[in-house]
Amino acid sequence: MVIQPYVDYATIQAEARKRGLWNGGTGWHSAIAKPCSQYGVAGLWQTDLKYGGLVRNVLGFKIVLPTGEILNTGSIAIAGTGPYPFTERFPGPNLMGLFKSAIGSGGIITELTIKLHPWAGEPTLSEDIGRPSIATYFEDAKTKKFDYPPPPKNYKVYWFEYPNLESLVEGVSRLAASGIGIGLNITGEYNATMCSKTSEEAEKRMKEGFFSPYQGYIVLAAITSKHQLEYEEKVFMKILEETGGKLISKEYKHEVLDAVAIWNLEFSTNTLTGMRTVRSGYIATVLPPLGPFTMIGDGAKIWCDLIERFGATTVFSKAGCNCPYGYIVDRGHQITIEADQFAKRYEIKHLGATISAEVYSWPAFMRKGYWGGMFVFTEPMTSCLPEIGPNLYMLLRKFREVFDPNGLAAGSRRVVWSEDEFKARLERRSRTLEAMLKAREEYGLKSLKLKSDGKSWEYP
Ligand SMILES: Cc1cc2nc3c(=O)[nH]c(=O)nc-3n(C[C@H](O)[C@H](O)[C@H](O)COP(=O)(O)OP(=O)(O)OC[C@H]3O[C@@H](n4cnc5c(N)ncnc54)[C@H](O)[C@@H]3O)c2cc1C
Repeated sequence: MVIQPYVDYATIQAEARKRGLWNGGTGWHSAIAKPCSQYGVAGLWQTDLKYGGLVRNVLGFKIVLPTGEILNTGSIAIAGTGPYPFTERFPGPNLMGLFKSAIGSGGIITELTIKLHPWAGEPTLSEDIGRPSIATYFEDAKTKKFDYPPPPKNYKVYWFEYPNLESLVEGVSRLAASGIGIGLNITGEYNATMCSKTSEEAEKRMKEGFFSPYQGYIVLAAITSKHQLEYEEKVFMKILEETGGKLISKEYKHEVLDAVAIWNLEFSTNTLTGMRTVRSGYIATVLPPLGPFTMIGDGAKIWCDLIERFGATTVFSKAGCNCPYGYIVDRGHQITIEADQFAKRYEIKHLGATISAEVYSWPAFMRKGYWGGMFVFTEPMTSCLPEIGPNLYMLLRKFREVFDPNGLAAGSRRVVWSEDEFKARLERRSRTLEAMLKAREEYGLKSLKLKSDGKSWEYP
C-alpha cells in the first residue's frame, strides 16, 4: 500500500481490512503517530513478534532532500522496475537505513510503500465497540460503559502473570521461540496508565499494585486454519504451566482481566492506550535497540539506579524498576525494552530528570554490552560514544554534507554535529555534554581525548 504523510494507522487498517489484509500492527502511540513520521522515530509495534514493526515493513519511500532533489528508495531505485517499490531487497547500495530513525533530519518523506499481511478477522470493525464518546466521556467513565471490546473474529488475547522476573523471562522466551502467536509483550505496571479510565484511577492502581509487574499478553490468530487457535492455545497453556505462569481469567483476577479488555482491539488498531499515557505526560526515556532477553533484568536494574539518582517524575516512572515494558520481536530472536519518565513538559525539574536519565542510560547499557539507545541521530550521544562504531559520527557528518549542505533540515536540532559544530560544542561544553562525558567516566568507558585539530576523538 502506498501512503502519504498524515495517513494514519486507523485509515490504513480500515482500507486493508476490507480486502482481507492488514499492515501487521500499530505502536503504542495510537492515533497520534502516522507511519511517515514514525519511520523517522522508533518504529515499534505491539505485534513485533510476527511482523517485526514498521521498519521491517517498508518496501521503499520517496523523500525530498534538503537540496530539493527527490530520492526514490526501495526497488524503484532500479530503472524499469515499475512505479512503486515491491521489495526493499535488491542488488546495489541501500540508502533506506540512513533515513530510518533520523528524526526528520534527512528530508521529508512524501510517499511510503508498506507491506500488507493477511487479516483473519472481519472486513470492518464496529466503531462503537468499547470506544468512549468524547461528548459523554466523563459520564460514561463513571458508569464504566466502555473499554470492553471483544477481540476481532479469529483472534484471541491471553493474559498471563509470573511470580517474579526470572520466571517471567523464562516463560516469555519459551513462548516466543515456540512459533505460536502474532504478538507477545510484557506490559507489567504500565497498564496502569494505558488501561485506566481516568488519571485518578491510574494513580490509585499504580499505588495499590493493581497490575502485577510480571504480567504480559500473547495474541493468537487463526490465519491458516480454524484449528490454529485450538492448537496454539494448547501450546501456550503447556508452556505457561511448565514455567510457573498463571492465566489471568474469570476465575483468577477477573478484575484485572476486565481492566485489560481494551487490548482485545488495541493490539491491532491501538487508538486509545497511548492517548491515555500521554494524559499523564510521557517521554520514552530508555529504549535500547534490539538485544537478548537478558536486557529485561539488566534494564530493570539500570532504570532503578537512574530513578534513584535523578528522581521519578510521577508514580508511574517507577514501573520500569520491577520490570520494563518488553516488546518481543522476531520470534524472540531479539527484544527491546522501554522505561519511561512521565514528565510534565512545562516542569523544568521533570525535564531535567528525564534528560539526565536518558543521557546516563546510554553508557549504562553499553557498559553491560548492549547498544545504548534507539536513536543514533541523538547528540551528544552520537558524537560522544564512539563505542557505537568508532567512525560512525564522522560518516554521518559526511552524509549530512552531501544531503544537507546548507544545514536546512538539520539546522541546530538534535542531529549529528558537523565538524565545526563538534569543535564549537566541545569548546563551549554545555551541561548536557558535560553530563555525557561524566557519565562515560562513571560507567568506566574509555576516557576520550581530542585529536590535535579538535574535530574528532582519538579512538580506539
Ligand atoms: C504515548 C506514546 C507512545 C508511543 N509509543 C510508540 C511505540 O509503541 N512505537 C514507536 O515506534 N513509537 C512510539 N512513540 C513515538 C511515536 O512514534 C512518535 O511520537 C511519533 O512518530 C510522533 O508522530 P507525529 O505524527 O506526531 O510526528 P511528529 O512529532 O510530527 O514527527 C516525529 C519526527 O518525525 C519527523 N517527521 C514527521 N513527518 C515526517 C516526514 N513526512 N518525513 C520525514 N520525517 C518526518 C519530524 O521531523 C520529527 O522529528 C510513542 C509516542 C507516544 C507519545
